[in-house]
Order: sequence, then structure tokens, then C-alpha cells
Amino acid sequence: MIEIHNVHKAFGSLKVIRGVDLEIKKGEVLCLIGASGSGKSTLLQCVNGLEPIQQGEIQVDGISVHAKDTNLNKLRQKLGIVFQQYNAFPHLTALENVALAPRVVKRISKAEARALASKHLKHVGLGDKEDVFPSRLSGGQQQRLAIARALAMEPSYMLFDEVTSALDPELVGEVLDTLRMLKSEGMTMVVVTHDIVFARETGDRIAFFKDGRICEVGEAWQVVNAPREEHTRQFLKRVL
Ligand code: ATP
Ligand code: MG
Repeated sequence: MIEIHNVHKAFGSLKVIRGVDLEIKKGEVLCLIGASGSGKSTLLQCVNGLEPIQQGEIQVDGISVHAKDTNLNKLRQKLGIVFQQYNAFPHLTALENVALAPRVVKRISKAEARALASKHLKHVGLGDKEDVFPSRLSGGQQQRLAIARALAMEPSYMLFDEVTSALDPELVGEVLDTLRMLKSEGMTMVVVTHDIVFARETGDRIAFFKDGRICEVGEAWQVVNAPREEHTRQFLKRVL
């Protein structure tokens, strides 16, 4: 479980997260929606320990992310994260990209890492791209490569930050299908997305972020079809 309690986060005098409480249970898909600049990406960075917080606490499986004695490298192995922009190593093949972190971090043998990478590439539908360099992959394939790379660490949670925003429209579907597949396998996911239809169909719950706070959180269909808050209604009217 990921537990976020009364988290506050500022960049200098700019208060970006202003008292967020949220729990993500095992097996749950939580979609985070909200206007640009409302703090969604920052919250993911805080969950992953990439950003310090000024107040509150975040726990992953009971381990406090920001406690001084927490082994962040170990904790991050529980959290796979995929961003909007593709970030593959250009000089490594798809297989080498996926094998790298398990080999270095988990210290498994080269052969084991390659087998693991091969398995996860197949899983995201890139079984025939093992020896291809990232620049030869389409945007959608590159995002699936990024997902395979995260999965190869066998995380307990996957965090996605607008993974389809930089893609041409015709490539969005294949990446969303990969997320749907992960959901069907029971992966626990936090998905930041501007795609309200995807959030409603695939999310168990949706949290609507406004100005660094959660304005509304509820079952996905409820938040989209019958929002309780006027701010949510206005936001949905703008984006749907
Ligand atoms: P978007 O939908 O556009 O991705 P978001 O909800 O993810 O927006 P964040 O990226 O979390 O928003 O940004 C929240 C606020 O924090 C913004 O005002 C942004 O300019 C600011 N911010 C984000 N990262 C930093 C940083 N490293 N230093 C200073 N300010 C930052
Ligand atoms: Mg963002």
C-alpha cells in the first residue's frame, strides 16, 4: 500500500502540494487528473523520493519514503516509474536497455538479466525488437520499452506520468492497451493522465487535483459521470 498523509511540498515560496491525503491499495489503479501545474507530477516525484517534502509523510509498504534512515535505492525497486518522454539509452539495444538495471541493481548474471529482459519485452509486445536500437522504434514502442524496463525490476507499484502525451494519436492506443493489460494482471498503478475516458474506463478510482490539493476522489465512473464538486464539473467540462 502507498499511504500519503498530509503532504506539503514547496519549491522555494511556491507551494505546490498543500496537504494531500491519499491511499493506494494493492491491486488498485488510481488515476490522477487535474489542470496543468496542479502538482500531479510533483506528487509522483515525492512518492518516489526524488523530491523532499516539507511536511507530512509518505509510506510505501509501511516504509517511510523521506525518513533519514530509509534505503531509497531499495525502496525505489518497489516503484516502477515511466514518464512522458522516452528515456532509453540510445547506444543500447532494446534488450540491453531492459537488462541493464536488473543486472546492475539486482546483481544477477548477464544471462539471467537477458532472459528477464527478453521475457518483459515479449510481455509488452516487443519480442521481435530485442536487437533494435531505440531510435529505430516508434514513439509507442519506445514507451512500451520504457514500461518493460520498469517491469524488469519487478516492482510492486507502477507510477505513470502522462505516458501518452508526447505520442502521435495513432500510437496512444498500444500504450494504453499495455496499461490495461497490467491492470488485468493485478498491478497496482498510479496513472497521471489527461485522458479522462481512459481514467474512467481503466481507473478504479480517480483523484482530481486542484492547486495542490485533492479536490475530489472517488470511484472512477462517479467522479466523471457524477462529480460532487463544482471544480471537478468545471474541469471536466473543459477537457471532455
Ligand atoms: P502538468 O499537467 O502540466 O504536467 P502537473 O500537475 O504535473 O502539471 P507539476 O509539474 O507537479 O504540475 O508542477 C506543479 C508546480 O510546481 C508548477 O507551478 C511548476 O512550475 C512547479 N514546479 C515543478 N517542478 C519544479 C521544480 N523542480 N522547481 C520549481 N518549480 C517546480
Ligand atoms: Mg505533470
